[in-house]
Amino acid sequence: MNDKAEKLDIYTRLSHAGRAGTHVHGFVNPAVHRGSTVLYPDMKGRQTAGEKRLEQYMVYGTMGGPTHWALEDMIAEIEGGTHCQIVGNGLAACTMPLLAYLSSGDHILIPDSVYGPVRNFAQGMMVRLGITTTFYDPCITGEALALMFQANTKVLYVESPGSHTFEVQDVPALAKVAHARGAKVLMDNTWGIYHFQPFTHGVDVSIQALTKYVGGHSDLVLGSVTVNSEEDWEIVRSASMTLGHYASPDDCWLALRGARTMAVRMERQSKSSLEVAKWLAGRPEVKQVLHPALPGAPGHELWKRDFSGACSLFGVVFQPGFSKEAVYAMTNSLELFGIGASWGGFESLALPSAASISRSAGTGDFGGEMVRYHVGLEAPGDLIADLERGLKVLISNDIG
Ligand SMILES: *Cc1c(COP(=O)(O)O)cnc(C)c1O
Repeated sequence: MNDKAEKLDIYTRLSHAGRAGTHVHGFVNPAVHRGSTVLYPDMKGRQTAGEKRLEQYMVYGTMGGPTHWALEDMIAEIEGGTHCQIVGNGLAACTMPLLAYLSSGDHILIPDSVYGPVRNFAQGMMVRLGITTTFYDPCITGEALALMFQANTKVLYVESPGSHTFEVQDVPALAKVAHARGAKVLMDNTWGIYHFQPFTHGVDVSIQALTKYVGGHSDLVLGSVTVNSEEDWEIVRSASMTLGHYASPDDCWLALRGARTMAVRMERQSKSSLEVAKWLAGRPEVKQVLHPALPGAPGHELWKRDFSGACSLFGVVFQPGFSKEAVYAMTNSLELFGIGASWGGFESLALPSAASISRSAGTGDFGGEMVRYHVGLEAPGDLIADLERGLKVLISNDIG
């Protein structure tokens, strides 16, 4: 990214990124280039074809094409990196760099609040490959983390805020410790998106589930892996090609379309989510609201220091007296909040999260039933009225 682009506002960047070299007959948007076979004019063309974008001929469809490149340029631009690799979904964006940077005999540090399927990967396939994991408290200090490094620790994994429980990590301090010990820092930046600039906070590899706000319409799954150096690009690109990662150009095109309006949606959804979170925090049925952008919430000071904004996904801990059954009944009664996994679309969601929380380092017990809320583009007043009806069901179920 050049200095000029860096100074432009996110609204401007989302309007202009990913359009270089994609104009076809003057249209504003890139075409959807679908393809497997790439034809060469002759054998000389075949011999000189390469996977690099600037070379005249690609080798094969799995290496991506102009539609992928346009989206990759967009994501690299908003994360402030040099190169981006699009993969089939967010989970693949987590596992691909893990396989790229870790070998048999290596050790990795993963936060206890990590996205569940990454824990599953670490405790399953990575064990089979001879890679060991230590799960650490996401709120750990740099000094305490330093004691957990082993001679074979090659990767520090961070995800901030954590999945379901929203712990904000001191990423710059932890990254410093990792780099002093020669380890790479991989971050799942899906919650932060463009509000957290990974490469100015010590991250080497940034992972995004584009399925969420970039897609923004609950109609695609896609992931990205972004780096900020040629050295890391060689490693990530090579692993991606070796493993056969690929994404549909149609989905890339949709994600690029989603990205154009992301800042507008985000501003609205972020504002609404704070309104809803504040209202919930004032209710006697609620023990604690886990929204890093809410003053007084856990991690708020770190969030204020490192993030330029917040998305609209947060957690709520209910008072310890409320049973799981009562929380389920409340969730069932909501009319505007759908019950579903994923997030980042235009529609609101509520998901009781206790069943999704799996820990091994003793963190994550907030002393009550929990629900994760995603606030969509609906009017916040309507959402609050729906939640108010829900709380009545919560109370009546508990008394009954
Ligand atoms: C959703 C999610 C993913 C995985 O994305 P998919 O596209 O659903 O595979 C990874 N990390 C986090 C933090 C997520 O919320």
